[in-house]
Amino acid sequence: MNKIKKHYIIIPIITAILSLIVIVMTSFNTTIVDKSYSLFTEDLNSNNISTVIIDTSSKMIISLNNGDTYSTDNPHTDTLKEKLLLNGIEVKDQVRAPLSKTIPAGILGLSLLALMVMLVSKAKSGGSSITSMDMEDFSKNKKAALNFHAVAGNEEAKESLMDIVDFLKNPEKYQKYGARMPKGVILYGDPGTGKTLLAKAVAGEAGVPFYALSGSDFVQVYVGVGAARVRNLFKKAKSHGQAVIFIDEIDAIGKARSNNKNGSSNDEKDQTLNALLTEMSGFEQNEGIVVIAATNRLDMLDTALLRPGRFDRHIEIELPDVNAREKIISLHLENKPHENLDIRDIARKTIYFSGAKLESLINESAILAAKDNSDFITSEHIESAYSITLAGHEKKERSYLKEEDKLLTSYHEAGHGLISMLLLPQDKVSKITIIPTTKGAGGYTLTIPEDSRYHRLDYLKNKIKVSLGGRAAEEIIFGKDKVSTGAVGDLSQSTDIALKMITEYGMGETLGLIKLSSVGSLYSSYGNPVIDECKTLVNTLYEETVELLQENKNSLDNIALELLDKETLYEDQLNKLAI
Ligand code: ADP
Ligand code: ZN
Repeated sequence: MNKIKKHYIIIPIITAILSLIVIVMTSFNTTIVDKSYSLFTEDLNSNNISTVIIDTSSKMIISLNNGDTYSTDNPHTDTLKEKLLLNGIEVKDQVRAPLSKTIPAGILGLSLLALMVMLVSKAKSGGSSITSMDMEDFSKNKKAALNFHAVAGNEEAKESLMDIVDFLKNPEKYQKYGARMPKGVILYGDPGTGKTLLAKAVAGEAGVPFYALSGSDFVQVYVGVGAARVRNLFKKAKSHGQAVIFIDEIDAIGKARSNNKNGSSNDEKDQTLNALLTEMSGFEQNEGIVVIAATNRLDMLDTALLRPGRFDRHIEIELPDVNAREKIISLHLENKPHENLDIRDIARKTIYFSGAKLESLINESAILAAKDNSDFITSEHIESAYSITLAGHEKKERSYLKEEDKLLTSYHEAGHGLISMLLLPQDKVSKITIIPTTKGAGGYTLTIPEDSRYHRLDYLKNKIKVSLGGRAAEEIIFGKDKVSTGAVGDLSQSTDIALKMITEYGMGETLGLIKLSSVGSLYSSYGNPVIDECKTLVNTLYEETVELLQENKNSLDNIALELLDKETLYEDQLNKLAI
């Protein structure tokens, strides 16, 4: 139905063009030559004239007996008309435009009017959202429904989203306890990691309709249209009772306001964002509508979106590690004939591939197999597809990283992890991974620090050592000349702690118990000695870190090599490797 509506607009466009063509053609045909007044009097005297059209304009139009027509100056005299009539010439007072002109002109006018009315009503109703809105009703079509089996890996995210599914399925259960369903969930992470897929799976699992809209749809529309689209979307969703509303690229409308300074588009974004916030606060938490938004960068979003009662649940969707990649590859191979494929090996080679990229790798292999008329996808097809996929991407992309870099990251992260386990056993190392984060780190070590009000001097020193552990491991394994820039974040952390110890916590020699920021204008004269002391402190701690790692090189190797293979290690695995 909406498609037909959309096509109606073609009709006035066509009629307008046609009538314009007719008008132009007829006006070419009837160009009238202008002749001098004396020629006119000559014609008058020799009785050649049949009709004269006189009106108030400066020209009058003369038709001759032989059919010719021309115009000449209108003398505006009262006697002319009488003279003409006496000569038996027909005189017409008014130019009546020929029908061949009025009809097309009329049609043109009507068409333009219709066109304007259509455009305005379309903009007002936000009607175009209907065409750009992606809607799938999983409550009616259970077969098409995606579920969590279509999403491999991402176990933590799935678990968190399972809650939402349960809320949608059994609202009474939660109502009984007065529990509120989260209204909004933000999925954030690299492109192609399966955020859309997960949102669809939530709708599929719960058996409710899925409405999707992309933030980029709002970027180039007239003021007010975006807001209307949002309202329209919520209205449709509410009419169904329960629904999952998915907003992809939410950053396009919900970018932190101070970040966008380019004038006019601001208004539109603000209006759209406000409409979204209003709609979200407009429904009750137990109404059964959940809004899932996706973005690549959580830190770019307007804080208004992240407040409680809005998008208060944030779930990171990470790049898949080797196990997850194995599952994703198997999943996409499921319906494709293949033979003798070492899936684990493919998974190992595709570090830093997103789910979307793995899907495209498998698809590319299937195309190659089809071109070969081969019965199966073979490892040769995968191999060629792999080169195609890699060559198709720029070098700077992460999937191009060499095995050597992977080894470096493994040792670097193992260094942090091991030092933390040795010196700060109370801060649990819950996870080490060499899968990079969206924030740009090459890998990371996640520790859960013990809750404590104060930090003691020895704790701070050990914290610095943990930060330096990455660089220290690089130096031990690869040599002083081969250390990398990977430690940049670590160094700002260790420098920060060391500076604070000396200038704020009264833990240094140069200032003793003086707190530098309270000294005011004298501040600058203390600069150099403080930096010197800071440098000595950090360097000493670094030497001790290197020593400690050397003493435990076996454990370091174990963790690093296991990390190279598994890419992500958790607490209990680490505990076994560290002994
Ligand atoms: P995003 O929304 O994060 O950019 P999508 O959900 O659009 O990513 O993923 C694009 C495609 O990549 C999916 O349709 C699917 O084929 C594939 N894909 C991505 N992640 C996964 C996954 N975890 N499991 C299976 N397929 C995946
Ligand atoms: Zn580091």
